[in-house]
Amino acid sequence: MDHVHSKESFRVAVLGAGPAGLYAAAELLKRDDTIHVDIFDKMDVPFGLIRFGVAPDHPHTRAVCKVFDTMLKDPRVRFLGGVAIGATLSVEQLSGFYNAVVVATGAESANQLDIDGSKLPGVCSALDFVGWVNGRPGLLEQPVPLTATTAVIIGNGNVALDVVRLLLKPPADFAGTDINSNALSALQLSNIRHVHVLGRRGPAQASFRLQELEEVLELPDCDIHVSRDDLILCDASLAELSGDGAAVRARRQIVDAFRGAVNRSSSGAEKQLTFRFCESPVCFEGNNTVERMTLSKNTLRGSAGDQTVVASDNVRSLTCGLVISSIGQRGVPLQGIPFDATYGIIPSVDGRIQGRNGTLVGLYASGWISRGATGLIGHNKPDAKKVVDAISEDRASLKRRDERDVLTYLTDMGIQPVPYCQ
Ligand SMILES: Cc1cc2nc3c(=O)[nH]c(=O)nc-3n(C[C@H](O)[C@H](O)[C@H](O)COP(=O)(O)OP(=O)(O)OC[C@H]3O[C@@H](n4cnc5c(N)ncnc54)[C@H](O)[C@@H]3O)c2cc1C
Repeated sequence: MDHVHSKESFRVAVLGAGPAGLYAAAELLKRDDTIHVDIFDKMDVPFGLIRFGVAPDHPHTRAVCKVFDTMLKDPRVRFLGGVAIGATLSVEQLSGFYNAVVVATGAESANQLDIDGSKLPGVCSALDFVGWVNGRPGLLEQPVPLTATTAVIIGNGNVALDVVRLLLKPPADFAGTDINSNALSALQLSNIRHVHVLGRRGPAQASFRLQELEEVLELPDCDIHVSRDDLILCDASLAELSGDGAAVRARRQIVDAFRGAVNRSSSGAEKQLTFRFCESPVCFEGNNTVERMTLSKNTLRGSAGDQTVVASDNVRSLTCGLVISSIGQRGVPLQGIPFDATYGIIPSVDGRIQGRNGTLVGLYASGWISRGATGLIGHNKPDAKKVVDAISEDRASLKRRDERDVLTYLTDMGIQPVPYCQ
């Protein structure tokens, strides 16, 4: 590993080589030639969810890796892969070798449904499913069988739509992408023909992006089903959709896209995609695998922007042999670092990590671990800039305790980091 390593250098450790960590590293390098950055990741390879989350049929989204690739080859940067912070090495042990440490470990834990039957075989998280499809080490075993004909995806975000495409798009469309070859073989043999997408709230509250929604509404040989009743919006939802802001306009376009779909007649296609709104799972049942679920109908109560979901005793049963929950993620605590268990984040102000008695000197957080699991890859860029601004402001007070190269210390501990190779 070539690295200019002098006493004069200002050394920063970035923990996590996802977009948040990589944007932070790139921003640090732009500021000053004396800054050297070590980027640690528990994986042997960088890029976080860009590599193991983004769906393989969206290669354009992964193109940002080319920019990061150039940065990772900068002599002032080292990628130290295969080092799990917390498990192999604590932040406390590491921080002595650096002037500043940026925690960018993402939101690694999928939110759980926590209802009866949610541990049945055939039920899994979208994070595990997409991780398997992308060949994420540790998730190479197929998490759920694809032998049933009907699948239910729980959640109304873009990741739910990624899973729809994986289950209903012709598998040939994934050939030649970065998809894990075992997953491609399994998709080719899949029996899934009907996918239900379940939202606990209505179409006006769905978090889909228009482009992703249109992509699934246009899937070949696939009929789309949306109930007309679900598109009759209550006054509060109508009020939420009125106005001129970009976010409101985007929501209106989503509802309009569903209105367009409801007017299309069924063509008797081989595959079926049903959007079900204002419904929540109550329980899953089955013998050796999930066979059916109970759903309750919800109503929305309250004023515009403040509507809450109220479950009813209007329930129905739905036959399904596969359930994939896509209901968000949360961060995982790191030993010795403050953690807000309610939101699953490391608390920070302007990027500076906050302890009980105020700011912790030299410790910063960026990306999903600091603001929760929302937003696209590019949304982590302003976060990174904020953190680097804070480091620049604090620079005079950020001292190192140990002048040795951390590699010497790691070698003494028997840790051999995996370098970056394209
Ligand atoms: C399934 C899925 C699909 C998505 N698809 C898109 C998309 O198509 N387009 C888009 O713009 N956005 C997409 N996103 C959102 C995007 O991935 C996030 O905005 C972004 O990845 C968050 O960046 P991050 O760096 O905070 O977290 P991550 O990308 O999760 O990176 C965190 C990194 O930290 C490492 N790490 C974690 N814990 C430790 C530890 N203890 N020690 C060392 N390393 C550790 C991880 O291995 C990982 O490399 C998707 C998200 C998901 C979940």
